Amino acid sequence: MYDIIIVGAGTAGMSAAIYGQRAGKKTLILEKANYGGQIINTPEIENYPGISKISGYEFATGLYNQAKDLGTEIVFESVESIQTDGEVKKVLTPEHTYEAKTVILATGAKNRRLNLPREQELVGAGISYCATCDGMFFRGKDVAVNGGGNTALEDALFLSNYCNKVYVIHRRDAFRGENKLLDSLKKRENVEFVLNSVVTSLNGEDMLESVTVKDKISGEEHQIPVSGLFVAIGQEPESLVFADIVDRDEKGYIRAGENCHTNVEGIYTAGDCRTKNVRQLTTAASDGAVAALAACEYLDSREG
Ligand code: NAP
Repeated sequence: MYDIIIVGAGTAGMSAAIYGQRAGKKTLILEKANYGGQIINTPEIENYPGISKISGYEFATGLYNQAKDLGTEIVFESVESIQTDGEVKKVLTPEHTYEAKTVILATGAKNRRLNLPREQELVGAGISYCATCDGMFFRGKDVAVNGGGNTALEDALFLSNYCNKVYVIHRRDAFRGENKLLDSLKKRENVEFVLNSVVTSLNGEDMLESVTVKDKISGEEHQIPVSGLFVAIGQEPESLVFADIVDRDEKGYIRAGENCHTNVEGIYTAGDCRTKNVRQLTTAASDGAVAALAACEYLDSREG
């Protein structure tokens, strides 16, 4: 029987584990893929308070080691459901059933798809959702990045270092991402902005050869020859598996206030899968601390 089971080994989940272990609670993290969550693919983090510059990999690995060194058990299994029989929560993976007094859902978010025909088929053949992971395959080639947030701007900057040409396709003419990144991008001679435009089709036989974009103002369509399209149009919460367990909002984010408590006693949520306005590394870490401390308070109150 664990005091706390955390689902997800991203920044929120690993921060929660650090707080849980330091409070003397027996803590297990269940993670379906790799530790680190989304931040592990970020080339450089420059906005985490107290750390001027660090790679996403280094940051995530530091968190992982910190949580492990404090005694957190980390098991790589995919949670398929949670049963809440009275005070005991049963967390089921294909391999095992784990039991805990409290659960923290910290499953984060996944990359949003364009939902265009052939998108899935061309993943690994020109379509990518991770510039840091796949960018090197496009050295010297022409590529496009779709999106207008920080991820798209960072991806475009990263790719412009070694691709021949980088088109930034965005559906508006104003960017959601930080001005500092945008200003750096505007200085790159091999970057071209394709604004007020949406990608309408992905073209090519076995590999991506071009994308068709539609100008939202003129209504005209034209093709841009590229061998890579990096899709960076935001995220969706990874919360479907909990749909029957906790309340979610219309976009699928798990409903909880600043105390991270869901509508189910003893179940908390932290990080990008939670309803909130700001989703940053700092808020993920902060959620992890808040959720773990709330779980500890609940556990202590039960133990009298
Ligand atoms: P985001 O901020 O949600 O931006 C998504 C972008 O994709 C927006 O520009 C949006 O357009 C566009 N978009 C959404 N759906 C679309 C669709 N179906 N077709 C075409 N375009 C679409 O996502 P993000 O850039 O991945 O960033 C997520 C969060 O992580 C943000 O809070 C961001 O600040 C943070 N982040 C931080 C860092 C960092 O601090 N180093 C790095 C990366 C990400 P509109 O603008 O028109 O809505």
